[in-house]
Amino acid sequence: MKPMITGPFVLLLAGCAYPYTPPALAPIAAPAPMSTAATAAAPAAAPVTILVSIDGFRPDYLDRGVTPRLSQLAAQGVAGSMRPSFPSKTFPNHWTLVTGLVPDHHGIVGNDMEDPARATAPFTLANDDPFWWNAAEPIWVTAEKAGIRTATEFWPGASIAWGSTQPKNNHGIVPGGERPRDWADFNANISGPQRVDAVIDWLRRPAATRPRFVTLYFDTVDSAGHDEGPDGPAVTAAVADVDGSIGRLVDGIAALGQTANLVIVSDHGMAPTSSTRVIALDTIANPADYHTVETGPYATLAPVPGHEAALAAALLKPHPHMTCYTKAQVPARLRYGSNPRVPPYLCMADDGWLVLKTTPAKPFTGGNHGYDNAQPDMAALFIANGPGFAAGKRIARFDNVDVAPLLRDLIGLPAATGLDGSDARFKSVLKR
Ligand code: AMP
Ligand code: ZN
Ligand code: ZN
Repeated sequence: MKPMITGPFVLLLAGCAYPYTPPALAPIAAPAPMSTAATAAAPAAAPVTILVSIDGFRPDYLDRGVTPRLSQLAAQGVAGSMRPSFPSKTFPNHWTLVTGLVPDHHGIVGNDMEDPARATAPFTLANDDPFWWNAAEPIWVTAEKAGIRTATEFWPGASIAWGSTQPKNNHGIVPGGERPRDWADFNANISGPQRVDAVIDWLRRPAATRPRFVTLYFDTVDSAGHDEGPDGPAVTAAVADVDGSIGRLVDGIAALGQTANLVIVSDHGMAPTSSTRVIALDTIANPADYHTVETGPYATLAPVPGHEAALAAALLKPHPHMTCYTKAQVPARLRYGSNPRVPPYLCMADDGWLVLKTTPAKPFTGGNHGYDNAQPDMAALFIANGPGFAAGKRIARFDNVDVAPLLRDLIGLPAATGLDGSDARFKSVLKR
């Protein structure tokens, strides 16, 4: 683990209680001199917009005293926390961040999905068939169409041939469609610094081929949160490590003489889980009556044909630590249930509980997300910093559907119609 950071950042963050309240403004030391030796790029052009996702970064992780670079960006820029969209899972929320639509509207309604139109081919995280993604246009496609060059060092959906159709029996590259001009397939073995260096190398290019919108994604804070739960030392170590990568990014950009508007977000938070807080579905309903699409912080289920009444009777009554809804009855504030891909039943566990197929064979503790998006421990990080943003501003918690409209403003795209989010709350923190 990295040594504890002392100095102004600790003072700045001391005393922050959970749920996270953005730190009060305090004088802050000047940034350290840039250390990266690099050939300066051509004279500074328009700022590049960089959307950074730190998967599973709960905003209160900034209170652990190991994030000097993120805390400095927050203190000198705009900071707050976001409500993720339901379900508070990785793929649905990453697609929301780049489309401005809730999962029910953009079609990535879970990390695992079934579609009545594709009964035999479910969606998993490894699937790159554009069929699953085509309902909503991601911002890199809109940007490329407008002549704004884009590049992605990982983002769920960024390696999809967006808008295309996968040919039958296709085993190679899906032809056609729109992708970022530069993109890389997700690979967890590529380290944080390597990901940052890939971005810096793109920004080192001459102006004509330099991207103006970039995404960057880190997964290690989420993995540590799953393994040990949010309170374990592995999360603190992963947070410190990613903070180092953010520092490398900021220093590398400065050494190029480039300016950047950084929008640093997470997709959701993390709650502690345990085998002592499990609802076993097979003790509630007869497994012959249903099949599950997802299990965990919530479960989604479909009845076996002919067994509808038995399943309804078993699920739609009170259960300790779990509430089940038909998709038509899902509370309106979750904005979930109209999409054909949402299975007929949604069973939501209380925070920190898990809905599993059966009683776990071995005891475990860990962490998970996917809970009600209003739960404080599902909250997501938001930090924005750069020439486009006012300094030292704090904004009240907002829904993550607002991020895509903000990104459109930053890269000069016209406001979109028909989105679930809006840029209204950023008017007071954007420099015009
Ligand atoms: P989860 O915690 O189950 O919601 O999903 C998080 C996991 O998704 C990460 O730990 C990654 O392993 C995986 N992941 C993230 N981005 C991608 C991607 N672009 N393609 C495939 N898997 C990804
Ligand atoms: Zn995630
Ligand atoms: Zn996760």
